[in-house]
Amino acid sequence: MTPRERILNALEQPQQRQQQHGLRRPKAPQAVGNAVSIATVELMEATGCFFPEAHVCPEAMAGLAAAGHEILGYDTIAPVFSVQQEADAMGCEVNWGRIDLMPEVGVHPCRIAADIRLPANILRHPAIMVVLDALQILRDRYPDVCIVGKVFGPWTLAYHLFGVERFLMMTLDNPAEVRRILRMLMPLPELFARKQLEAGADVITLADHATGDLVAPAMYHDFLWPLHKELASAIAGPVILHICGDTLDRIAWISRSGLACFHFESKVPAAKARWAAGDRIALMGNINNPLTLLHGTPADVAVEVEEALAAGVEIIAPECAVPLTTPTENLIALAEAARG
Ligand SMILES: [Zn+2]
Repeated sequence: MTPRERILNALEQPQQRQQQHGLRRPKAPQAVGNAVSIATVELMEATGCFFPEAHVCPEAMAGLAAAGHEILGYDTIAPVFSVQQEADAMGCEVNWGRIDLMPEVGVHPCRIAADIRLPANILRHPAIMVVLDALQILRDRYPDVCIVGKVFGPWTLAYHLFGVERFLMMTLDNPAEVRRILRMLMPLPELFARKQLEAGADVITLADHATGDLVAPAMYHDFLWPLHKELASAIAGPVILHICGDTLDRIAWISRSGLACFHFESKVPAAKARWAAGDRIALMGNINNPLTLLHGTPADVAVEVEEALAAGVEIIAPECAVPLTTPTENLIALAEAARG
């Protein structure tokens, strides 16, 4: 199997298990990958592709992303490092940061739904084009590796446009306006994902930060679950949903969304995630970033990988975008432990 096949096969495993009613097949090789950023200062130095150029220049973006396969040995290459490409295209005046600092939005330009401007040519914006060009470069260069695109869902886009606090207040004060906002933002992830698949992405990460500590499960179910279902069916390729934090109280919904995979954090123990997800969706994750990958040893990483494997996590991966000072040694240990 090629690395690309390992990931695509892993995404289909839950469905295969359902169809076979527990009949055992020879186990496929374990898939290892990343759905979000593995960019670190060490990998920038190793590749010669540095922040902030890697957010705005396709060659630098592709070169740094390729470290995930070339240096770490993962089955994936995922070229979007920050959460801000769409934000810049929507007018949030992104500051692209430094080698050791992720980009940040400068302004939240909207107060009401009617303030949202999604220009017809938004997919030609430089911050969008850089992603499409990087995907194309990687597709040509790595035909056998799983190329991972990334789009942000309407909830995260609303955080950019309105600010987290104002938007969350609105969910309480004016839910009808929140629905209008989310509906207006839906075309962006759908169209951007389509373009990314055309550019060569094999799978699309849909990151939407309806995280457990800010968004109650009923809110997720009410506002966002129907939209995630829509995106799952509108995007013509496998979609990996990423939500940060403790998401255990919504995994059962997520598993019934038609999405191919849920990429989850270590705040949800892997066995509980599997219990909530059943065989309805593939799981990816959930190796801890701040304690284990950043400050642990390769042996600590191996212990967590074992737990995730025992729970049947289909794709072993860091839980979220890794901290920029994560040691390469630990990121490699993740792949080695997963493959045994
Ligand atoms: Zn996350």
